[in-house]
Amino acid sequence: MTLFGALRLPAEILFGAGQRHALGRVAQRLGQRALVVTDARFTATPAFAGMVADLEQAGLVVQVHDAVLPDVPVASVAEGVAAVRGFEPDLVVGIGGGSCLDFAKCAALLLSHGGALQDYYGEFKVPGPVLPLIAVPTTAGTGSEVTPVAVISDAERTLKVGISSPYLISRVAICDPELTLSCPPMLSAIAGADALTHAIEAFTAIKRTPDAALTQEHVFIGKNALTDQQALHAIGLLGHNLERAVSVGEDLEARSAVMMAAMAAGAAFGTAGTAAAHAIQYPVGALTHTPHGLGVAALLPYVMAYNRPACETELAQVAVALGAAEAADDRGHAAQAAIDAVVRLFAAIGIPRSLGELGLPTDQLDWTAEQALGIGRLIKNNPRPLDLATMRRLVRAAHA
Ligand code: NAD
Repeated sequence: MTLFGALRLPAEILFGAGQRHALGRVAQRLGQRALVVTDARFTATPAFAGMVADLEQAGLVVQVHDAVLPDVPVASVAEGVAAVRGFEPDLVVGIGGGSCLDFAKCAALLLSHGGALQDYYGEFKVPGPVLPLIAVPTTAGTGSEVTPVAVISDAERTLKVGISSPYLISRVAICDPELTLSCPPMLSAIAGADALTHAIEAFTAIKRTPDAALTQEHVFIGKNALTDQQALHAIGLLGHNLERAVSVGEDLEARSAVMMAAMAAGAAFGTAGTAAAHAIQYPVGALTHTPHGLGVAALLPYVMAYNRPACETELAQVAVALGAAEAADDRGHAAQAAIDAVVRLFAAIGIPRSLGELGLPTDQLDWTAEQALGIGRLIKNNPRPLDLATMRRLVRAAHA
């Protein structure tokens, strides 16, 4: 078999307990004036004080912006950037959950190219390199530390919006699982389930190459060996460690495995993309105001079941990675085992079993289906085609 693949990643990834102490050394190579972007929760921790001290000891001048809000309201980015522009940073350090990392990407973008975030909504609108970014995640889920995506909320729009560009990939990701030890069980569950959804959607997606996506001339259908490898690695780690990381939060080994999985899943979907579960979550999130990870996870088993006829081979491999089947030979049996294993794992960590449980009103199901179908880049990437009738059926099945 001829192997084929594409993968875009940070230039440097540091991973492991205590790696946050490398921040000063790493930042020193990228600039002298560091804008540190985080939220009020993290600035109150000893870890934050230590990281700022490390930066200063390495000779950097530091300004902190600690007003990041969950889901990154677009106006908050404009205000934050206006407040720090006079500081003239030459690098941006994002420390926190996906919201802080995405805010840092947006700040680096506006500081480099000006204008408003609205100018860059969608794919490939960023005109060139942005200030070097260092991403230090404190949740294990979004994978934002390695992805080319920033997700924000815009009060003018019903659905959240994304800015996607290879220029938004952080220069360095520093992944220190000790920073996730403080995540409460539900946050750990939501983030980990988000990562599993990224990995499974990337592994079963119609895998576009970045170059094909850049030119939009053709869609590559086939195996992207490089993203598949990352996705399967993530699925295996999550299948064997997520439940424990949620129930025994101080277990550093389980936390490390889940953080590694989140990063690998980010590497996979950052290139291969996500699909229907993510498309449907956009309107579901807008209507229910529930976290992104909760919505995609509640949808995942239903999307897997719908997609099964188009990707039984891949789902059988997912089952093996999760430890739910010994071999992928009996594809039908193994594919069902993968779906059952995801249902069982999500039930064990407290993920709602349906859109109804998430609070989606029954009279909004058709609107949800229409909005989801409108997110063309995700729908086109779904392994089994969807039209309005099949999307309506899928949304109804997921609501039951
Ligand atoms: P988050 O960043 O929104 O944080 C949620 C809450 O958890 C906040 O109150 C935060 O202070 C708290 N928190 C963070 N780390 C903690 C810790 N170690 N201990 C205790 N509390 C902690 O949550 P998230 O799930 O990491 O990120 C969600 C955001 O990321 C959404 O906006 C979503 O759309 C986006 N997202 C982005 C990408 C991407 O590739 N850029 C991918 C998926 C999701």
